[in-house]
Amino acid sequence: MTHHDEPRGRASNFIRNIIVEDVNANKNGGRVATRFPPEPNGYLHIGHAKSICLNFGLANEFNGTCNLRFDDTNPGKEDVEYVDSIQEDVKWLGFDWEDRLYYASDYFDRLYAFAVELIKNGKAYVCSLTAVEIREYRGTLTEPGKDSPYRNRSIEENLDLFERMKNGEFDEGAHVLRAKIDMASPNLVMRDPTLYRIRKMDHHRTGDQWVIYPMYDFTHCLSDSIEGITHSICTLEFENNRELYDWVLDNVSAPCHPRQYEFARLNLSHTIMSKRKLLRLVEENYVDGWDDPRMPTLCGLRRRGYTARSIRNFCERIGVARRDSMVDLALLEHCLREDLNDVAPRVMSVLRPVRVVLLNYPEDQVEMLECWNHPVDKSMGTRRVPFSKVLYIEQDDFREDPPKKYFRLAPGREVRLRYAYYIKCVNVVKVPDTDEITEIHCTYDPETKGGWAKDGRKVKATIHWVSASHCLTASVRLYDHLFTTENPSDVEEGKDYLDYINQNSLETLTDCRLEPGLKDASPGQRFQFERLAYFCADLKDSKPGAPVFNRTVPLKDAWGKIEKKMKK
Ligand code: ATP
Ligand code: MG
Repeated sequence: MTHHDEPRGRASNFIRNIIVEDVNANKNGGRVATRFPPEPNGYLHIGHAKSICLNFGLANEFNGTCNLRFDDTNPGKEDVEYVDSIQEDVKWLGFDWEDRLYYASDYFDRLYAFAVELIKNGKAYVCSLTAVEIREYRGTLTEPGKDSPYRNRSIEENLDLFERMKNGEFDEGAHVLRAKIDMASPNLVMRDPTLYRIRKMDHHRTGDQWVIYPMYDFTHCLSDSIEGITHSICTLEFENNRELYDWVLDNVSAPCHPRQYEFARLNLSHTIMSKRKLLRLVEENYVDGWDDPRMPTLCGLRRRGYTARSIRNFCERIGVARRDSMVDLALLEHCLREDLNDVAPRVMSVLRPVRVVLLNYPEDQVEMLECWNHPVDKSMGTRRVPFSKVLYIEQDDFREDPPKKYFRLAPGREVRLRYAYYIKCVNVVKVPDTDEITEIHCTYDPETKGGWAKDGRKVKATIHWVSASHCLTASVRLYDHLFTTENPSDVEEGKDYLDYINQNSLETLTDCRLEPGLKDASPGQRFQFERLAYFCADLKDSKPGAPVFNRTVPLKDAWGKIEKKMKK
């Protein structure tokens, strides 16, 4: 057995420390078994990634196992579309459940048998109060509840009614099965919680086989036990449910008794994580589907251009604690930049073009200029980019009347064209009577090939360009935060998150001029457009020959500043 003490290159956390202790004490024979238990009622989001990285990460680290288990006990809300997307996303994040793909619905027979066992031991009863009455009888935090008048039904009557519930003899809501615990418990969860309810609805896996469905609190602990889970890790809102988790396992002949540990869920600024709220964005067309690049879903982030590695790094960086907090979206973006800076090839593209004519450049000449694909990692090689008499540069890189500290191109001024030549602006052509610039006339200095003057003369700016007759015209989508407020889940009274949608979260530019080599970009391929941002060829709409690019993340990093402020 390996002895674990020092964290090996990864941040420690309290759950990891518990596992270290358990392994060293040879608890569970030193075995570590975790699970990731999504409900297939929506797509996975960045919050789920935290849970996935934690559960699969701990299993990997301690030579254990992590199961993927669908917690599918809610027919009606659940769907195979979600089951499929969840598997795809977990794999994409880089984790492998091997042959351990499970469904809570596969345990329906065994769960039913456990419920019968509870009844036989006088630990559960069929209650015929209505949902409203059950709530009234439950009491409050300050007042004890009242016993249900059905609480003392005989075991025989309970067995008979529960079987008839299963056989479909009763309508929805007529009866439920409840645990017989303590209506005066200070923990509301323990006041005779419902274990089974009647739902006459088809299930995406069991069809019409069942008309009663087990509740989360009954299903989850027993599923963990059936699978031999050792450490059942969930989010803080289940803290009060732990007592019930343990009660159920203590009161049936469960195969083993896993331990539940709670950690704080991830809250990320400028976005929402609730699947119900995300579903509404999709259904009411605020976004273009679950995989809209503005969504915090894993498929949305993927389409935006996020790498799986950057998300795993992010989850490592935020750590695991027991206190709720809000993580700034800038940290996620920072982790993405860190990764893309290393791996994304550089190209030159012009998003808002203006024509530049080099008056003294030979009419039909084309030079193929050698450009580095990465400024530091020379192993990424070079590419050849065509240069000719007519070019495009960014409108932003020229000012007819430059303000102070503006060092880019202006009348009479010389700048460097990256990898090419020094050019000097000699004239500006405008639409008569307006200020709209149609062409900038420049001269180039043939003695500055490669962008360096032989006489040592310096320029203050280097700008990017593309050759007008060679470049590719394409659409580029600029994405911004989906919400204008930091915490859309906690807003002024009378308003809700939909009131804070950023109306400018998507800007589509249709007349961008890209370096010709980008023609063959494959969907999902990422680049840095030099001086602008990282971009990714859209997974759905980009086709070889006709690329569509999404802005993944701008180059400017806000994280350093935020971190400094937090340390103060
Ligand atoms: P929602 O409230 O949005 O419906 P959920 O918690 O019900 O989310 P599940 O499918 O039940 O979603 O979640 C699967 C697992 O992922 C659970 O263990 C849950 O605790 C965890 N999880 C969900 N959201 C987050 C989050 N924001 N941060 C960390 N873990 C999360
Ligand atoms: Mg849930």
